[in-house]
Amino acid sequence: MKFFYNFFGHLNTINKHRFKVFKLCFKAGIPIRGLLHDLSKYSITEFFEGVSYYADGKLSPIKVVKKEKGYSKAWLHHKGKNKHHFEYWTDLTSTNFLPVILYKYVVEMICDQIAAGQTYIGKDWDESNPLNHLKKRKDKKYINHRIYKFLEEFYIYMQKVGLNKALNKKTLKEYYKKYVES
Ligand SMILES: [Zn+2]
Repeated sequence: MKFFYNFFGHLNTINKHRFKVFKLCFKAGIPIRGLLHDLSKYSITEFFEGVSYYADGKLSPIKVVKKEKGYSKAWLHHKGKNKHHFEYWTDLTSTNFLPVILYKYVVEMICDQIAAGQTYIGKDWDESNPLNHLKKRKDKKYINHRIYKFLEEFYIYMQKVGLNKALNKKTLKEYYKKYVES
């Protein structure tokens, strides 16, 4: 019965995450991205790895399988299908190997980060989390430097004024214009 427990547990994790991201995307002015967020998690490749390595929703199954096997097929599939991950855009064999990411996908990335942080950290989550998480990333050198600056400055602002005040279309557009397009 473990299979069914994991199956519905994992399904619930995905649905809950997608609903959280949808609400944030809606607030940020990109509702369509919110609706389409992470749909590839229902694909066979991603879904059943998540079921096999289900960790009661406390840890990402991708993290668990990466630790055990060294790589995750679900993650390789996921980052190849989802433009809100900077890894989607990274191609070390291209001349422009860290291209600028389009506005709507970076905003979706922000909503994803906030939702994931809130899910895994729970009640201890606060607005310092996305900034700390970004700075601690071992792979941050693979993020386009303008995009990185945009994320960093936006998270600093969000830490100062709070999620509710910071996450809106006007502010996000302003920051994107300032740090990415100028
Ligand atoms: Zn994703």
